[in-house]
Amino acid sequence: MRSKKRNGRSRLLAVGVALSVMLVACGEDAEPSGGGSETGGGTAEAATLRVALDWFPNPDHVALYYAQDNGFFDDQNLTVEFEVPSDVTAGLKLVASNRFDLSVFYQGDMFFAAQEGLPVIAVGSLVPQPLNSLMALHDSKVQGPETVKGATIGVAGLPFDGICIGGLAGDETPDERDAALDVAVAALGDDPRPRYLMGLGSPADLLEAVHRGIDLFDSVLPARVARNGQLWVPGGRLNLRNRVFLDDPGPVQDDCPCLLCRRFSRAYLAHLFRAKELLAYRLATCHNLTFTLDFMARIRASIRAGAFPAEMSELRSRAGRISGGEVAEQSA
Ligand SMILES: [Zn+2]
Repeated sequence: MRSKKRNGRSRLLAVGVALSVMLVACGEDAEPSGGGSETGGGTAEAATLRVALDWFPNPDHVALYYAQDNGFFDDQNLTVEFEVPSDVTAGLKLVASNRFDLSVFYQGDMFFAAQEGLPVIAVGSLVPQPLNSLMALHDSKVQGPETVKGATIGVAGLPFDGICIGGLAGDETPDERDAALDVAVAALGDDPRPRYLMGLGSPADLLEAVHRGIDLFDSVLPARVARNGQLWVPGGRLNLRNRVFLDDPGPVQDDCPCLLCRRFSRAYLAHLFRAKELLAYRLATCHNLTFTLDFMARIRASIRAGAFPAEMSELRSRAGRISGGEVAEQSA
């Protein structure tokens, strides 16, 4: 019997990406490029501040564009240039290499940057709270996911082709997530549209969410834990930062078709992590994504064969028992 905890009500209501979006600057030189100090004649030359966004311009960046459109940067004698980097992970490196003055990044990646010793600092929060929220009047009867059932919920925007259940997989416990999912999925009834859950996650979390009726997922977790040296394998995970793997000639996973497992040993990967060689992060990510895709393919095959309930025990065993939240805690 799953517990129906109610003490996490606020976290369950606060839906959205549970990460603040940070402004990041170079730790050694956070001054704008291009000069801009008062000249001897008293005329200030506008300084240029180069800001790398994390993605194409979107509502996360509204404060920056609002400031620009309303002349707040001009008031500070700043010329601010925004640029979309080639990929979402480039911002930290662009700042660390002094090619940009500021970048927009997620809070969790700042922890990774600090762990890796990148010379960057967080200088402010662009979005200091979860990005999406489910809002109700203060004195409404809606006080938690349990009381949403039967309520009329308004959605801004055009009709959509799928259902997004968002804001979980942040800092809630698996029990809290299960409770919210049970309410949300039940409320959808026979709606045939695909159901997408933001932010999961670990193989165990994926499996339990599918079990509750979810179809689609996205998550940075496979890549994030891979960068910490944690490789998902049937039944659990390996921590390649552990010394025991330095002399292990076998592959990370015997039957895995990924580039890492086909060509390199655990010992080589363990060496790459210790040497802080970037190839380690790439190979480990390659493996965790391969494991995740294979695991989801097994779930789909099981459902199509009508054997999903009967095979839950076997699938749970393959996933291991660790939820995304536990992985994150143990990686910190
Ligand atoms: Zn592999």
